[in-house]
Amino acid sequence: MSTRNAERHAVLHSWCVQADWDAPTIVGGQGARFWDEDGRVLLDMSSLSECMNLGHQHPALVKAIQDQAAALCFTTAAWGAEPRARLAVRLLEKSGFEGGRVFFTLGGADANEHAVKFARQAAGGPPGLVITRDRSYHGASYAAMALSGDSRTTSQADPSRYGVVRVPPPYAYRCPFGSASDAECGTMAAAHVARTIDERTGVSAVLMEPNAGTNGIVAPDTFWPALRAETRKRGVSLIADEVMSGFGRCGEWFAWQRYGEAGRPDLMTLAKGLTGAHAPLGAVVLSADIAARLDHQMLNTGLTYCGHPLSCAAGLAAMQAYEDERLIERSRTLGAAMFERLTALQAGHAVIGDVRGGDGLFAVLELVKDRATREPLRPWPEVHPSLKSLVARGRAAGVSFAIRGNLILLAPPLVITEPELADALIVLDRLIAESDWS
Ligand code: PLP
Repeated sequence: MSTRNAERHAVLHSWCVQADWDAPTIVGGQGARFWDEDGRVLLDMSSLSECMNLGHQHPALVKAIQDQAAALCFTTAAWGAEPRARLAVRLLEKSGFEGGRVFFTLGGADANEHAVKFARQAAGGPPGLVITRDRSYHGASYAAMALSGDSRTTSQADPSRYGVVRVPPPYAYRCPFGSASDAECGTMAAAHVARTIDERTGVSAVLMEPNAGTNGIVAPDTFWPALRAETRKRGVSLIADEVMSGFGRCGEWFAWQRYGEAGRPDLMTLAKGLTGAHAPLGAVVLSADIAARLDHQMLNTGLTYCGHPLSCAAGLAAMQAYEDERLIERSRTLGAAMFERLTALQAGHAVIGDVRGGDGLFAVLELVKDRATREPLRPWPEVHPSLKSLVARGRAAGVSFAIRGNLILLAPPLVITEPELADALIVLDRLIAESDWS
């Protein structure tokens, strides 16, 4: 059986109808490109699942994993491991969470579940409520689905059974609060969270994405600092889900840092860019205050692979690469250029209703039927056939684009070259122009 046939018949694939799954086998990559077994090369405009921030097969990461494998593949969290300890210190330094602690997981969903556990335990008393928002994604384990306001998973987990209360998002283009401006939408969304806390008893935490997310919401800049101020005033922990927005994706190490101390959460969750997906790893970073509250309590949780040495070695090498190659700054500069180019594209294509993002190499195009009325191209989360075909035609043209509903999500590796980025946007321009959007 060929690899492709084996993959097609023996693997249960995520987020798809099994019978429809049909994709090439990827065998290699370099920088912003990867290639399949037939030698077909694709320029990656989504960092695969918005996780390969450092590009494909980054040599420093490959070497770090090889060196660590030769020295020590595994020890449990019951014992110390050098790369785990060093990575925790580096994360606390970069986030300015000195005196805090880091709990390592395998990915984003378990990081979010653990952040909620820690916030609840730190709050004391019976497990409190957690406020999250619609049009968010925090993972696909049961509690993470309950935390997420994602159309794919809402019917799978009842939020009330997990102590989760969901509120409308700061979706400025279609503001659920009927605001007059983007800025006002951000403050109204934060005020709504504050009201929700006041109306309920026993809210322990608010968990939200500060910037980029797979549901295509990019909160206005007024949102996060206002949310921080309101939660601080009420003694409720703020958890920033930085799984996607961290490690340069939004032009900072962590997206909340754009607001300085006014944006600092009590806990943040990381994955994806933490190792640039070179090895599976997630983390919960706890502030000194939360960590101190847990210091003399039993912590009844753990994962066999907490802080796996191979993954932590990859994480350390990743952080060094972001720094040595100035990738955070690069993301900011290239992200601004990409945003400008996308705004120009919008001027030429009536189907592009909104362009948002641009604080780093992350942007969202929202497609509409009518720009004046903002009527969606298809009701969320349906996908217009031409958008599906755009992805297929992009692949045929050598560029891999990610879509969701009416959205085109642009999140290339931070190592993409300027000519590669320019070429990809020329292809996108052509594909949009050649599509029938009726
Ligand atoms: N949080 C956010 C913001 C994400 O984008 C994702 C994944 O896309 C997750 C959490 C879940 O991460 P994982 O797939 O590693 O469990």
